[in-house]
Amino acid sequence: MAALRTVLHARVVPFSGSLRFVSSFKAADLTIQRNAACKPKPDPSTLLFGKNFSDHMLTVSWSEKTGWEAPQIKPFQNLSLHPASSSLHYSIELFEGMKAFRGVDNHIRLFRPMLNMERMHRSAERSCLPLFEKAELLECIRKLVEVDQEWVPYSLDASLYIRPTFIGTEPSLGVARPGSALIFVIVGPVGPYFSTGTFNPVSLLADPSFVRAWKGGVGAYKMGGNYGPTIAVQSEASKRGCQQVLWLYGEDEEVTEVGTMNFFVYWTKQNGERELVTPGLDGLILPGVTRQSLLDLARGWGEFKVTERTMGMKELLAALEAGRVLEVFGAGTACVVCPVSELLYKGKTYHIPTMENGPDLAKRFFKELTDIQYGRTPSDWAPLVV
Ligand SMILES: *Cc1c(COP(=O)(O)O)cnc(C)c1O
Repeated sequence: MAALRTVLHARVVPFSGSLRFVSSFKAADLTIQRNAACKPKPDPSTLLFGKNFSDHMLTVSWSEKTGWEAPQIKPFQNLSLHPASSSLHYSIELFEGMKAFRGVDNHIRLFRPMLNMERMHRSAERSCLPLFEKAELLECIRKLVEVDQEWVPYSLDASLYIRPTFIGTEPSLGVARPGSALIFVIVGPVGPYFSTGTFNPVSLLADPSFVRAWKGGVGAYKMGGNYGPTIAVQSEASKRGCQQVLWLYGEDEEVTEVGTMNFFVYWTKQNGERELVTPGLDGLILPGVTRQSLLDLARGWGEFKVTERTMGMKELLAALEAGRVLEVFGAGTACVVCPVSELLYKGKTYHIPTMENGPDLAKRFFKELTDIQYGRTPSDWAPLVV
């Protein structure tokens, strides 16, 4: 199917006397129009997530008739969309979340950005949006960060958040594959997730009456439609005194994710073995770049068992009551790791001793990843932008 789609979206152009398929835009065709009225940069200590944007943006338009246009970097500006655009009606929309970091050596790095491109490509395919070459988009994003490099905070706990977005712009109300589409990428500085500089643990509402994703659904894709409906559940959690939602699924009330983070438990198994557990990628779980990185690191250390499998609430609570749970945390680009200290489940509050246990593992993961991101540890996970 992928091959067929590539052909369907290909444009045939003459090349060196033969025919060549052009199925992606090319970074080499990028045009750059510089902003003549750059904004002042905000103080990194006052940054609120997603409220500040840089001076430039990247756009790449596509239509069925003419294929991909040349990518453009231009002054940050509003979009102009037909009111029937399919993104607005049927949520033909997907996004990514990644960061650029200014390191101790003043070089700017991305973090495993090809994993974001691969995930975006999978989301595009599932959304019936046109495909592109991942390396070409990544190079365009690298260029955007280079153009806006002064927006990457001069700080070892702030970063530049990068939001690649892909929308259907088909100007008709039929529920159909869009005949036109737009990739745009906006970036903006973000501060540390833990404003106090130390880990702040969160409390979670675990209520099986709310479901984020389901078998055969699209939970594994970063599509906008997965997130809008969670806001009401999040505010229900706040009403009940919890900071985030622990998403459960199915008969066994499998623990799937924490808010918009992947879920990890570090515990002692009944046989005395130490183990790190996170749900496997069964279609419900968003394949996080941070999740993958924690698994890769832990497997590399080889100091404890690392397992991808489902865990039901019953099993988790039994282990908690037996005193075998060491740490529970969420993992994602925003925070790297976020410790969990409390669960509210069926009217009862359960304390999780994550903080009492250091949290040694969560802290170690945080240090390893931020050392790579800020250039303190050289790694091919962190390619240079400039
Ligand atoms: C984005 C996201 C994550 C974390 O993914 P990262 O690539 O690590 O940022 C986890 N769960 C959900 C539901 C997400 O949307």
